[in-house]
Amino acid sequence: MNTTANPKKALICGIGGQDGAYLTQLLLAKGYQVWGTSRDAQMSSFNNLRALGVKERVNLLSMAPTDFRSVLSALKRSDPDEVFFLAAQSSVGLSFDQPAETLESISSGTLNLLEAMRFLSKPIKFYHASSSECFGDLGQQAATEDTPFRPRSPYAVAKASAHWLVSNYREAYGLFACNGILFNHESPLRPERFVTQKIVYAAHRIARGSTERLALGRLDIVRDWGWAPEYVDAMWRMMQKDKSDDYIIATGEANSLQDFVAETFAVVGLNWKEHVDSDRALFRPTDISWSQGNPEKAARQLGWTATVRMRGMAARMMQQIKV
Ligand code: NAP
Repeated sequence: MNTTANPKKALICGIGGQDGAYLTQLLLAKGYQVWGTSRDAQMSSFNNLRALGVKERVNLLSMAPTDFRSVLSALKRSDPDEVFFLAAQSSVGLSFDQPAETLESISSGTLNLLEAMRFLSKPIKFYHASSSECFGDLGQQAATEDTPFRPRSPYAVAKASAHWLVSNYREAYGLFACNGILFNHESPLRPERFVTQKIVYAAHRIARGSTERLALGRLDIVRDWGWAPEYVDAMWRMMQKDKSDDYIIATGEANSLQDFVAETFAVVGLNWKEHVDSDRALFRPTDISWSQGNPEKAARQLGWTATVRMRGMAARMMQQIKV
C-alpha cells in the first residue's frame, strides 16, 4: 500500500483493455496515481473502466504507440515511476488479416516506449506484455523462460520481436524492463471475438432458448487458461523487484478447448455436443496445438501462484454476464 502524500505514478498504455482495467483497479487499491492511454481518449468509451467503477479515478491521455512524438509527450505529461505497455493489436486471429498493423503496433510501439524512456532523465520501470504465443507449439511440454521461441502467427512474430527488444535494451542500456510472458487469461471483460467469451455468450443464449448452433475452429487445441485479475497482480509484482527480469505467468494446467466448451455448457445444464460444431472454415492458417506454461520461477521469485483454473473460470465468466 502506498499511503504517502507523494504516491507512486503509473502509466498504463492501453488502459481501456481487459488487463488495463484490472491493473487500474489493483494500482488504485495500492494507492497509486494512475494515468492511462487510449489511441483516442476523447472517443474511447472506456467501458471496462466504467464496469469496474474506476473511470473517474484516472487521468486519461491520447497516445498512438506507433507515433514517437505522442509516446514521448504521454511520458512527459504523466511523469510515471512505472509504465505498463499493454496497448497493441491483441488478437492472434486478426493478425493474419492485419499483419502490418499488428507488427507495427506491437514492435514499433515497444521500441518507441523504450527509446522515449532513454530520453528522459528519471529512471522509469517498464513492463512489456509479452506472450505465450512466442513459444509456438510446445509438443506437450510446459514452457519455461529458457524455452526457444518458434512463433506461428504474425502476432507471435511481433511479440517475439518486442520481447527481444526489451531484453536487448535492458542489457545494452541498463533499463529496468520486464517481459511478462503471459499465457491466456480471461475474464468477463474479454471481447466476444476471443473464443472463450464467444463460447460463454453462446451457451448463455442457448440456455435461454436460442436455437443457434455455435461454430468453432479446432476443438483439440490445448491451452493454459488463467484468470485476468490474478495475472495483473503478477505484472505489478515484477515491477517491485530491484532487478528486472522475464517471467512466465501461467497456471501450469493444460486443457483442450473441447474441455472448456464442455465445462461452460455444463455450467448452464447443457450437453455441448447438441449445440456445437467444429468448422474447417474457421481453422487458422497455422495454429498452436499445445500451449502450457511452467510458472515455477514466478512462484519462487515473485511469490505469485494462480488460484483460479479453467473450471472455475468458465463458471465465473458465466456468472458475470449481465442479462
Ligand atoms: P485488449 O483488451 O485487446 O486491450 C488492448 C488495448 O490496446 C485496447 O484497449 C486498445 O486500446 C489498444 N489497441 C488495440 N489495437 C491497437 C492497435 N492496432 N494499435 C495500438 N493500440 C491498440 O488486450 P488485453 O487482453 O488487455 O491484453 C493486454 C496486452 O497483453 C496486449 O498487448 C495483449 O496482446 C497481451 N497479452 C494478452 C494475453 C491475454 O490472454 N489476454 C496474453 C498474452 C499477452 P484503444 O482502442 O483504447 O487504443
